[in-house]
Amino acid sequence: MSFIKALRCKECGADYPIEPRTVCDHDFGPVEVAYDYEAMRGKVTRDSIAAGPRSLWRYKDLLPINGEPRAGLRSGYTPLIPAKKLAAELGVKELYIKDDSVNYPTFSYKDRVVAVAITKAIEFGFDTVGCASTGNLAHSVAAHAAAAGLQAFVMIPHDLEEGKMVGMSVFGPRVVKIKGNYDDVNRLCSQIADKYKWAIVNVNLRPFYTEGAKTHGFEIAEQMGWQLPRHTVLPVAGGTILPKVWKAYQEFITLGLVKDNAPRMHAAQAAGCNPIVKALEEGTDLFRPQKPNTIAKSIAIGNPADGYYVLKVVRESGGSGASSTDPEILDAIKLLARTEGIFTEPAGGTTLACAIKLIQSGRIPRDESICVCITGNGLKTTEVMQGQFAATPAINAKMNEFDDLVRQITESANAKPAPVKA
Ligand SMILES: *Cc1c(COP(=O)(O)O)cnc(C)c1O
Ligand SMILES: [Zn+2]
Repeated sequence: MSFIKALRCKECGADYPIEPRTVCDHDFGPVEVAYDYEAMRGKVTRDSIAAGPRSLWRYKDLLPINGEPRAGLRSGYTPLIPAKKLAAELGVKELYIKDDSVNYPTFSYKDRVVAVAITKAIEFGFDTVGCASTGNLAHSVAAHAAAAGLQAFVMIPHDLEEGKMVGMSVFGPRVVKIKGNYDDVNRLCSQIADKYKWAIVNVNLRPFYTEGAKTHGFEIAEQMGWQLPRHTVLPVAGGTILPKVWKAYQEFITLGLVKDNAPRMHAAQAAGCNPIVKALEEGTDLFRPQKPNTIAKSIAIGNPADGYYVLKVVRESGGSGASSTDPEILDAIKLLARTEGIFTEPAGGTTLACAIKLIQSGRIPRDESICVCITGNGLKTTEVMQGQFAATPAINAKMNEFDDLVRQITESANAKPAPVKA
């Protein structure tokens, strides 16, 4: 059953039919999918969800598709990890990691939004899909398009990490490298969507695409035993995931599936691209676009499409924002690996580094529950770790050489990394 009502303008509330559309004709406000929550009551329950597949499609009733899922049948339902060792090191009581670094099939949160967008593209009858991407989206679109038998054009900045280039190219999309940053790529993609009538997932299918991000929040709530974390720390790039996790929490509250604990949303950005955090600090509604310069390329969006809504949600929820430098991002990547056995890319390092700052500054109290959202995988961005580890010389396959090595290692054991105290 579908509970979709309309595409509704977030500014004036005008309704439009379910069609490829990004903005309202009256005021150019973004349109968002509206649902009939009254009709869901008693039908969308904890039990009905728990009986669903072990994928993001267990929340199908809260997603904007009419028929059966056509893509991403194994996407989502990633682990929520009680991060006890990291919590101890940071001196906080209750800490969770939502781990989308192992999302299927391309190891980032983007497999959620793409699963929904590609299903919708098929419902609309498109045969070609595309995207404007900082890397992970192109990787995911390429994989899902291949599996669905669609043609794909992925548009990216020219200077992406090798792991992402190989990762996307293997699926056989047309990879279009553009001389410029993400914002240049995005501008071109708006024109491409108009002219070629393709499904550019984050442009003309954006209202459907963004709904997929809610599933990250639904899962946090369900996996915490139908509760909300008091604090959720999320990275901000284009500004999709943070407001959508908030929307997910609000929908579960509306449906009576979780108690309203006044959840607070916190925004994490790299210092080399932090227009939203700057605006939060300055107390302004309007952020100033930036030219990105950071190792956190996947979240380096200087002019975020939904930045305005990130500011709104962070403020409304009583949350805050922080940014972290490249060295802080690398330290956080290593800390997460060392304490919880999770290897994330710089976007995840940014989120953890910012969470630590918010804990240190008291913006996140140490005795309240915290969820840190890890959105990407470190194996796609190994070049950022270059020079981070002491090189060990090769030894011959001889016991005495091994013994010598162990002795050296034990002697330098005092040089073990000092615990990071928040
Ligand atoms: C795209 C992306 C994000 C967040 O992007 P939004 O546009 O703000 O939703 C976060 N982390 C990673 C790894 C990403 O690829
Ligand atoms: Zn409008």
